[in-house]
Amino acid sequence: MTEAALERAFTDVHGRAPEGVWAAPGRVNLIGEHTDYNDGFVMPFALPHTTRAAVARRDDGRLRLTSAAMDGGLVELDVETLAPGATEGWAKYPAAVLWTLREAGHAIGGADIHYASTVPVGGGLSSSAALQVVTALALCELHGVGMSRQDLALLCQRSENVYVGAPVGVMDQTASACCTEGHALHLDVRTLAQRQVPFDLAAEGLRLLVVDTRVKHAHADGAYGELRAGCEAAAAALGLPALRDVAYDDLGAALAALPDERLRRLTRHIVTENRRVEEVLGLLDAGRTPEIGPVLTAGHASLRDDFRISCAELDLVVDTALSEGALGARMTGGGFGGSAIVLLEESAEAKISAAVAQALPSSRQFVTTPGPGAHRVR
Ligand code: ADP
Ligand code: MG
Repeated sequence: MTEAALERAFTDVHGRAPEGVWAAPGRVNLIGEHTDYNDGFVMPFALPHTTRAAVARRDDGRLRLTSAAMDGGLVELDVETLAPGATEGWAKYPAAVLWTLREAGHAIGGADIHYASTVPVGGGLSSSAALQVVTALALCELHGVGMSRQDLALLCQRSENVYVGAPVGVMDQTASACCTEGHALHLDVRTLAQRQVPFDLAAEGLRLLVVDTRVKHAHADGAYGELRAGCEAAAAALGLPALRDVAYDDLGAALAALPDERLRRLTRHIVTENRRVEEVLGLLDAGRTPEIGPVLTAGHASLRDDFRISCAELDLVVDTALSEGALGARMTGGGFGGSAIVLLEESAEAKISAAVAQALPSSRQFVTTPGPGAHRVR
């Protein structure tokens, strides 16, 4: 949808022009899966795909929402009656952001908002974080609320934890709010130290293929909470604040101290995954980008065998790509479906892409490069 079409759609519903248009991207996580809620390290980058919001303030306390991605028309809420758990359907994400801003003491009233998105919804590419971040950025800018990008992401995370009721970490929102074009974002989730890491694949004759399996297995949401609880139980059993605090060299001793087989597996994934993030960072810094391939593939094996959150479709995509000569491949995102990423040499793109499409005909794929983080469009 062009900018003009987005504004027309807004005007059709709300009978006036928007005050502005904002965009926030979906993300791919290059490496560092499920490490965010373990106080660890992650390295996502922003997709060129964005969720855009055309927005105008209202002075009657009504929040009126429409989305081109959703049937069901206009959702109308009263900002005074917003309460955690009280909003059903997709509108809970923007309602949560508005509630959390007000809870933080910002005098933000009603709004008319129309959304249009090019981020695949439910594909493990964080369309939900894009929806939160674009809403938060638009409302903050319209109301003159000054907030750092990291604080904006933390506010969106809090809105999902408290209002939506999902115990997510802060990676997805931080990626959407803080990423920059041409870079992956190295984030230490404990200290919130950020580094923009140059990630220019084309210059090195490389491509990154995103394959959306278009499956999402039903137990995905419940499993997330169980995994998080398991990681916290493992850290507690080791007497540590978080699994981040298990040094890679101490992994053997930590595993020996954990009587529970499941907690051992979860711990091994988190500790080795934090190490993989640092390995990828070192390789990118050293200009040895093709060598990150095997590290990505090792990350997939760890998610499949230790964390056990892959699925047949993701394994099929990864195995097919690797057997056709990909440099590396892994599932990305929460697991149980969603998307995989494949790092490949430009010369192998056609062959690998065709093989993956043939292996999983219902999948969708695109080649991508790191795009900008959330921004005002006009
Ligand atoms: P992902 O974030 O991986 O795309 P989620 O299940 O976390 O998948 O989030 C998808 C949900 O986010 C949708 O079911 C819907 O509630 C909401 N959502 C995402 N994008 C949009 C959009 N453009 N318009 C309305 N709701 C959206
Ligand atoms: Mg999501």
